[in-house]
Amino acid sequence: MGGILVVLTLQGGAATPAGLDLLGLAAEIAQVDGGEVTALALGEGGAGAGQGLISRGADAVLYCADPALARHPGEAGMQVLAQAEREVQPDLLLLAADSVGRDLGPRIAARLGAGLVTEATSAALHAGRVEVTRPVFGGKAIARMAATTAQAVITLRPGAGAARAADPSRTGTVRELAVQIAPAANWPTVVRREVEASSGPRLEEATAIVSGGRGVGGPEGFSLLHELAQALGGAVGASRAAVDEGWVPAALQIGQTGKAVAPDLYIAVGISGASQHMVGCARAKTLVAINRDPDALIFDAARLGLVGDYREALPALTRAIRELS
Ligand SMILES: Cc1cc2nc3c(=O)[nH]c(=O)nc-3n(C[C@H](O)[C@H](O)[C@H](O)COP(=O)(O)OP(=O)(O)OC[C@H]3O[C@@H](n4cnc5c(N)ncnc54)[C@H](O)[C@@H]3O)c2cc1C
Repeated sequence: MGGILVVLTLQGGAATPAGLDLLGLAAEIAQVDGGEVTALALGEGGAGAGQGLISRGADAVLYCADPALARHPGEAGMQVLAQAEREVQPDLLLLAADSVGRDLGPRIAARLGAGLVTEATSAALHAGRVEVTRPVFGGKAIARMAATTAQAVITLRPGAGAARAADPSRTGTVRELAVQIAPAANWPTVVRREVEASSGPRLEEATAIVSGGRGVGGPEGFSLLHELAQALGGAVGASRAAVDEGWVPAALQIGQTGKAVAPDLYIAVGISGASQHMVGCARAKTLVAINRDPDALIFDAARLGLVGDYREALPALTRAIRELS
């Protein structure tokens, strides 16, 4: 395989955990199959972040901090990405399946006539080409796919790659990408950004997740889940049903149309175990289910199951964990 171009959006001058996961995946593929990994860092702070990206698996870093990227991530991002692609001529382009990657991935693939696989939940090298898995038929089945074109574009869901530990001895080039961006009046523009307040670890990085579903019955029930998550040093997640009810923000949704997570411990509370939810927590090391229906599907996937009302089970569990720790 030739080179790999990894598209990273910087936040606060640093790569996001999802970006570092992509970089780790690219480095893993390149290690087996050869080829250079180039990180394209979009946003302010690229020069400063460069060496950090090298230490995490990039062989070269191209950065662009043009202010137009913040205001027009789609249109300006496309110009920068197209320029980087011309210079690097990679066989594989990896993007996060986030708002930027979902916008840029299909557009660059169409321009290049490259094969496109979106929303991959894993990717690995098989017989010289990158094969990905992706939920299909509403999450009821997992498809294995690979582009048959010489050049491929893949967007990956959070948790699909694995960040490498920083290796400060790695060396590489860091260079600013020269792109003239002239924003047009009709470009879609970001007018405001709101950062959701949160405490505790991010879902993508949490080693323990307590996730609530429709069975939690309302927003107030989630306070019991927060207490347990806090005792475990973990994070709270949710099923789509709980999000659709408006009990918790959409950012907490786990599953096919939410996040894919890989904690050591996943406690599913009042969640029935629909395939579209399970695809998001399939990589949890230990799954514990608390459900009052003994026939709930979730018990088929759970290593430990507790049949009962979560309102009784959770306070006792939280107390026991606090005593133990
Ligand atoms: C295209 C598509 C994409 C989707 N994407 C997602 C996704 O990303 N994530 C996702 O989660 N879903 C997704 N869904 C929805 C999914 O099919 C299910 O509808 C959803 O996961 C059900 O959520 P739930 O398990 O919380 O609710 P329910 O299926 O209603 O289950 C509630 C459970 O709570 C139990 N319960 C009730 N009261 C209590 C109590 N007091 N104590 C303990 N247990 C109790 C019940 O026995 C039941 O098992 C998607 C669906 C489609 C079609």
